[in-house]
Amino acid sequence: MSDEVFLRRAIALSRAGMESNEGGPFGAVVVRDGKIIGEGWNRVVASGDPTAHAEVTAIRNAAAAVGQFDLSGSTIYASCEPCPMCLAAIHWARIGRIVYAAACSDAASIGFDDGEIFDELRRPPHARRVVAEQSLQEEAAAVMHDWAAKADRTPY
Ligand SMILES: [Zn+2]
Repeated sequence: MSDEVFLRRAIALSRAGMESNEGGPFGAVVVRDGKIIGEGWNRVVASGDPTAHAEVTAIRNAAAAVGQFDLSGSTIYASCEPCPMCLAAIHWARIGRIVYAAACSDAASIGFDDGEIFDELRRPPHARRVVAEQSLQEEAAAVMHDWAAKADRTPY
């Protein structure tokens, strides 16, 4: 099936989610081997979860459906260009390709402006609006080293 078929499914989910008042007008599907393995739409309002964006929801559903946290070989189709959080989730899921419809500028025009977050990422931590302060580095890093040395760990 063509990209447009899956992209239209993502757009249909964006409309269904919007009409049911579950959240903003955003939808997404994860596709592997020509089949949809996970669908999602924005459920921020319905779930009271600020991270319940369409792409994150679709990734969670896809990973649960296939029983894997690694979605390598997948493509995500999103009704709108992914925000920084969703873009990061796509990377963590090892999804190799993104196809999107509306642009960030379209979302910004209705009040969903993630440009500030993209700008924030370009600044050094101490210069960001949400100030990042560091403390107890060695104590936290010790847990990381223990994990790295753990024989039964699951790398990802
Ligand atoms: Zn997002």
